[in-house]
Amino acid sequence: MDDGETLPGEAAQADSQPPSAVTSLEFVGAEVVERLRRQPGGRELLEMAKYRQDVYLVGGAVRDLLLDRAPRELDVALDGEDLSLRRDAAVFARELASSLNVLAGEDVTKVNEHERFITAGVVWDAGQIDIAIARREHYSKPGALPEVESTSISEDLRRRDFTVNAIAVGLGGSQLGKLQPARHALEDLRERRLRVIHDASFEDDPTRLLRLARYNARLDFAIEEHTEELARQALNTGALDTVSGARIGAELRLALSEPQAPDALEAMRELGVLAAVHPRLRHDPELVAGALELLPADGSKEVLLLAALVLPLVLRADGQPQAEARALLDRLEFPQGDRDRAVAAAVAAVRLHDVLPRCERPADLYEAASEDPIEGVALAGALNDAAEAARRWLEEVRHVSLAIDGRDLLAEGVPQGPEIGRRLHEVLLMRLNGELGEGRDAELAAARKLS
Ligand code: ATP
Repeated sequence: MDDGETLPGEAAQADSQPPSAVTSLEFVGAEVVERLRRQPGGRELLEMAKYRQDVYLVGGAVRDLLLDRAPRELDVALDGEDLSLRRDAAVFARELASSLNVLAGEDVTKVNEHERFITAGVVWDAGQIDIAIARREHYSKPGALPEVESTSISEDLRRRDFTVNAIAVGLGGSQLGKLQPARHALEDLRERRLRVIHDASFEDDPTRLLRLARYNARLDFAIEEHTEELARQALNTGALDTVSGARIGAELRLALSEPQAPDALEAMRELGVLAAVHPRLRHDPELVAGALELLPADGSKEVLLLAALVLPLVLRADGQPQAEARALLDRLEFPQGDRDRAVAAAVAAVRLHDVLPRCERPADLYEAASEDPIEGVALAGALNDAAEAARRWLEEVRHVSLAIDGRDLLAEGVPQGPEIGRRLHEVLLMRLNGELGEGRDAELAAARKLS
C-alpha cells in the first residue's frame, strides 16, 4: 500500500470515474488473491478451494497481503454454519498437505490437529497454513479461555482482536476474491490504525492488551483513541489479573521475538501493561538500545530484553535478589533455560557495571566476566561508562583460548587433579595479557614453570 494511503486496486482506478464501493472492493479482493498465489502454498490452496464456497483466507494473512507484506503464515477459515463440516479442518489440512507433497515432490509436510478449537495446520519448510472452522467464542468469565462453537465467517470476524485483523476473502466458487471486512476494517487499514471490534474486547481477553502493543510496534499502526481509552480502563480495573501467567507469558514471548521488540515493550510500558504484569518491571529504551548494540551475534536478543525487564527486581539488595525475578518468570512460564539465563544476566549486569570500567588488562576482564552470560555483559556495558570494556570482552578477549589442554599437562607429568586446572588458568591469564610468545610451546613452558 502506497504510504498507507490506498488499498490495492484503488490506485489503479484513481484516474477513472469514482468507482462504486462494490467495484473497488472487487479490485482489492482480486489483488489479494493474486498476492496469495505468490505465497508458499498459495497456488495449491487456491486450487483446492476452486469449487468451494466455504473457504476463506482470514486474519493477519489478509491484512499483510493488503499491505503488500509477506504473511508469516496463512490462516484459512472454513465457513462453519453447517455442523456436519465439523471435522473438515483436518480433512482439508490433510488434502492440502498431500497436494503440497505431490507438487514439492518430497515429503516435507506434517499435519497437526487441535481438536478443541477445530483447527488443523500444515507446516513445511517453506511455509505454514492453519485451517480452522469459523467459530464463535463465548467467555464464561472475563479472561477465561473461550468456549467455542462453529459459525459463519461474518460472525467469526466479530470475535477477533482488531478490525485490521478481521477481514476475510473468499478463495473459491462465487466467493473468489470477495472481501468480507468487519466494520471499519478497511478504513482502519488505510489509516494505519488499531481498533478493537467491540468495547468489551479487552475484558473478554486481556491478552489483547499485549497484542495491541505488539501490532502497534510491528505494523507501526497508531492506536485509535477510544481503543486506547478502553485499554487503559481495562488495565486500571485489573483486567490482566484475570488471565493466567502462562497466557500473559505466551504473548510476552511473542513480543520479545518480534524484530521491533523494543518498540513493543515501549508501547507496553507506555500503556501500563508492564506495570500491570509486575509493578517493578521496567523497559528503558536507551539502555536496551545501547545493550543491543553491544550484543554479539551469538547472544540472544530475547534474553537480553528479558534481563533488562527484570533488572529492577534483582537490584533490590535483600539477600536473595534473584528470588523475585525467578518467581515472576516462573509465573509467566518462561522455559527454565531462558529464565535462568535472563536472571543470571541481570545479576551480572548489576555486578559488572561497576567492575568493568576498572578492568585495565584483558586478564582482569576474564576474571570479572568469564562466568557471566554475554547478555549480562552487554547490559552492564550500556548501564554505565563500561561500553568500551564490555565491547573489548565481547568482541576480542572472550575468544582467546589456549592451544594446550589438560592432556598436555598430564603428559608433562602434572598429577591428575585441581593442579591441572590451576596451571591452565594461570597460563591463560598470561596469554590474555600478552605475556607469552606465540604457539603451544610457549604455553607448555609457562605451565611447566608454575609449581
Ligand atoms: P502473525 O503475523 O504474528 O502470525 P497474526 O495477525 O496472523 O500475526 P496470529 O496470532 O497468528 O496473528 O492470529 C491469527 C488471527 O487470529 C489474528 O489476525 C486475529 O484475527 C485472531 N486472533 C489471534 N489471537 C486473538 C485473540 N487473543 N483475540 C482475538 N483474535 C485473535
